[in-house]
Amino acid sequence: MKDKVSIVKCDTYEKCREGIDEALRLIGGIERFVKPGDKVVIKPNLVSKKEPGKAITTNPEFVKAVVHIAEAAGGIVTIAESPGGPYNRTMLNAVYGACGMNYAVEGTNAQLNYSTDFTEVDHKDGHTVKRIPIIDPVLDADVVINLPKLKTHAMTSYTGAVKNLFGVIPGTYKAELHFRLDDRKAFCSMLVDLCERVGSVLTIMDAIDGMEGNGPTSGTDRHIGLVLASENPYELDMAACDIIGYETDEVDTVRFSIERGHAVSSYDELNIVGCDIADVMIPDFAKPESHFNLLKLVNLPSALNAFFVNKLASRPEIQYKECISCGECARCCPPKAISMDSGRPVINRQECIRCFCCQELCPKSAVKIKRSLLNKFMIKIVR
Ligand code: SF4
Ligand code: SF4
Repeated sequence: MKDKVSIVKCDTYEKCREGIDEALRLIGGIERFVKPGDKVVIKPNLVSKKEPGKAITTNPEFVKAVVHIAEAAGGIVTIAESPGGPYNRTMLNAVYGACGMNYAVEGTNAQLNYSTDFTEVDHKDGHTVKRIPIIDPVLDADVVINLPKLKTHAMTSYTGAVKNLFGVIPGTYKAELHFRLDDRKAFCSMLVDLCERVGSVLTIMDAIDGMEGNGPTSGTDRHIGLVLASENPYELDMAACDIIGYETDEVDTVRFSIERGHAVSSYDELNIVGCDIADVMIPDFAKPESHFNLLKLVNLPSALNAFFVNKLASRPEIQYKECISCGECARCCPPKAISMDSGRPVINRQECIRCFCCQELCPKSAVKIKRSLLNKFMIKIVR
């Protein structure tokens, strides 16, 4: 029997408890996943210190509702995340504070995780990584509840259930993986490896307010008005991608999930319950500037293809008017391609691997994605 993906309309965070309850009821209820006494880890998307109203991180009302639901089922709840940047108590405190997580646990018995312990675990069947460092609360949990936000992503095109689990890898190791796996496909293959290793999770997606355009942090808020839930993170991602207008082969994590047999092979085969997906599609959902796939247009020999892909690739560009020279981009840049020697950030184009971590973590949204002239020209002629 195919896993269900529930889709429920929910317009406001004030009413999100009702929406989440209904999304869970449609897939069998929280009792299917959380038993009395279970150690439950809730993993929201807390990418960096961002205010909840910006639609970048999982909304605290949404997290709070899930804490209440898990506790009502008898779970002992911890909220855990390894945000972008260093993984230490100071950073965790700052991120929890900015993202409203103190409010999310207020009046409950839930704890915020401050342990920075992690363990390197084997994943012998991994296609790209065979050993993965994972933060201990996630490894020790009986149940992981993944709370991604529906957003576009400059590097991976889309971020949802599978990509959100990148936040179970401790900070500096994330930068190392970006550096080692500088090709988008290899990086996305690693994300699927990681999701396999984390294993069974319940995913409840905050798609009430999402982000379109240059996500995951510099795009535009977009009201979507939905809650999605499933025990199958790969198929939940497929449903979300269908809603925002991606083909299955445009998002590498989705493509690999299908190829590895974790998901059905087409949108038509998904077992959707709740809303009819055709009624909630958003065909004009803006994609990131970086999202442009020449390979879909022409079939070139691989050497020529590599040349054009390089020429067409979008690149990060610092907007010095908005930049406050805090140096965060230089600290988070995996190959150390950003120099602050002149007192302001300067990107070495030869060393940049186009991971867009600088764009993701800049507190002032001062890193924009710039298309090359050839890229702009190609888009004009194909539209
Ligand atoms: S992180 Fe943003 S604000 Fe800080 S130095 Fe880099 S570009 Fe400037
Ligand atoms: S400059 Fe930005 S996009 Fe380029 S490698 Fe560094 S962090 Fe990644």
